[in-house]
Amino acid sequence: MSEKSKKYVGAHVSASGGVYNAPLNAKAIGAKAFALFTKNQRQWSAKPLDEEAIELFKKNMKESGIEPKHVLPHDSYLINLGHPEEQKRKKSLDAFIDEVKRCYQLGLDKLNFHPGSHLKKIGEKECLDLIAESMNIALSETEGVTLVIENTAGQGSNLGYRFEHLAYLIDKTVDKSRVGVCLDTCHTFTAGYDLRTKEAYEETMTLFGDTVGFEYLKGVHLNDSKPPLGSRVDRHHSLGCGEIGWSAFGFIMNDPRMDDIPLILETIDDSIWEQEINALYTLVINPANGAVGG
Ligand code: ZN
Ligand code: MN
Ligand code: MN
Repeated sequence: MSEKSKKYVGAHVSASGGVYNAPLNAKAIGAKAFALFTKNQRQWSAKPLDEEAIELFKKNMKESGIEPKHVLPHDSYLINLGHPEEQKRKKSLDAFIDEVKRCYQLGLDKLNFHPGSHLKKIGEKECLDLIAESMNIALSETEGVTLVIENTAGQGSNLGYRFEHLAYLIDKTVDKSRVGVCLDTCHTFTAGYDLRTKEAYEETMTLFGDTVGFEYLKGVHLNDSKPPLGSRVDRHHSLGCGEIGWSAFGFIMNDPRMDDIPLILETIDDSIWEQEINALYTLVINPANGAVGG
């Protein structure tokens, strides 16, 4: 079934020991897509990728059978492109640009990031303008990599919890060919957009389509949620174990708007990722609908 499906499901796998381990870690759990950190996500600096690591990464990509377009690297949690203080924002931007370049070196075409936080020191619009400015600088100093804005739960002062925030950032981005968004199901749900019934799912996706546009959808994070709808709290759960439940993931697996993009598990128990991936493919009702040329 998974051979015919146009859905590319995987997980945010470990890159410990070296980035080149990530494709093999993905292959080992039957993933058709994956996410990774290209450096330690809790440190500012990293040593540059050397030629040997880059070549080994590309070799292991071939061995995994996973295409570069189905890889969704995630940036460091330290980066805040909308930091109200100029010096700290500059530090974030430098680290971000370095990450974009690392993706390019690895032959990857996307970088997923959280938009940023106003830290209650500036307004939402002012912060969004700073984020857009940072994104435009990053784009002008790099090539080949699309900046993929992740929607957030809106916890604390994190922006990106309204579809309008994502649309605003895209609107301000000069090079629209290199900007996209990633929808995280947990964040979407806790930000207040319901996904649990067919009607709610369609309503949320129609709103997303009208506000942002599916041409910008470059990836999805598949997570159930510990906190309830609209709680603005970011706590993932294993699929079917949280407040969202299995049906939403069935809607996604049968939604052609989710074809050919990385669908990435960030669920809390990595020992069951292989089972979660298999379970997701069993939800595909008619794989012929998504078959190539079908
Ligand atoms: Zn994220
Ligand atoms: Mn996520
Ligand atoms: Mn999260």
